Amino acid sequence: MLSREELKEIAKMRGEGAYFVSLYLNVNPMTNVKNNYVIHVKNMLKDAAEKLDKAVMKKITGDLEKIDSYILTNKRGLKKGLAILSSREKKFWKEFHLSVPLKNEIIVDNTPYIKPLMDILDNYQRYAILLVGKESARLFLVHLGEIEEYTEVHSDDVPGKHKKGGWFSLSEKSYERHTDYHVSLHLKDVIKQLDSFLSGEYVGRLIIGGSEEAFGKVKAMLPQTVADKIIGTFQAEMFANIKEILDKVEPILKASEEKKEAETVEDLLTKAMKNENAVLGIENVLNAIQEGRVMRVVMLKDYNQSGLSCSKCENLTIQDLTSCPYCKGDMQKANYIVDLLSQKAVEQGALVEVVSQNKKLLESGSIGAFLRF
Ligand SMILES: [Zn+2]
Repeated sequence: MLSREELKEIAKMRGEGAYFVSLYLNVNPMTNVKNNYVIHVKNMLKDAAEKLDKAVMKKITGDLEKIDSYILTNKRGLKKGLAILSSREKKFWKEFHLSVPLKNEIIVDNTPYIKPLMDILDNYQRYAILLVGKESARLFLVHLGEIEEYTEVHSDDVPGKHKKGGWFSLSEKSYERHTDYHVSLHLKDVIKQLDSFLSGEYVGRLIIGGSEEAFGKVKAMLPQTVADKIIGTFQAEMFANIKEILDKVEPILKASEEKKEAETVEDLLTKAMKNENAVLGIENVLNAIQEGRVMRVVMLKDYNQSGLSCSKCENLTIQDLTSCPYCKGDMQKANYIVDLLSQKAVEQGALVEVVSQNKKLLESGSIGAFLRF
């Protein structure tokens, strides 16, 4: 999962004579029939090779070969977007599988290129979940429908006495002496670390769980800045597994997302009605994309539409045309207009927002867009 801390570490890396290859690739099966991203990668690598200085090319040949063979052999586990950062000279390889579309690009530089990943962190809401008990605490992060636990493994020097703890669980000693004093010391520590985690990662929403007792204590001690971020609470045992926790927080996440989505749709409808750089309906969105005006597409989750795509300029339409109004190219049948549209929007630097359900958006054509101009 993406974290700001990790990206910050990656951003600090310098080639010092070595080079980094950063590849961003749309691997969405809907817009890549017959895995044609494999061909895209081949072409992108070839293009890069032609443009680059021979000396640089020599340094990154190994990276390009590794990427090429990775793409060929790792067809499973792919989501919508794939990002690979590689520097063989620096012995560095990192891949990110993302459930959002990415703009195809390959960058060769003496630093890794991470802007698209930073943008995903900024544009898609993340949630922190704190599970707190009297002696330990666990912290989870939810982003793009995935949950991950942030743990720390404490092992002390005593042979045979290795204790795998939670995120910042206490040492054995304080575990034995759980007096109120120690409990509140522990909670203080938890809160301090939670606070710095939330601000360091720019996470704006928090869900707290645990026993009623621990939760009550924590709540009373929270600084206002953290308390303001709480969007829900739940009860769970400290040893609950990740799936149980996700099940418990699901309704809270859903309610929060729906609220945010409803606000977005309301904003879109108002702006479209006033003719303030917003449009509704598939045809209007397609036209705006063709004109390069789209800033943010908003669509219903299960919305799909078939239509036509120009074989020359890739203009998309749902009208029954035989030749393209822009370039007179032949129009071909396209079954997944909405996926193709999303990809084009992303290629233009626009954001695609999927709304799980919304009656007003459904009644307005299931899709709309905020425009740049
Ligand atoms: Zn055309």
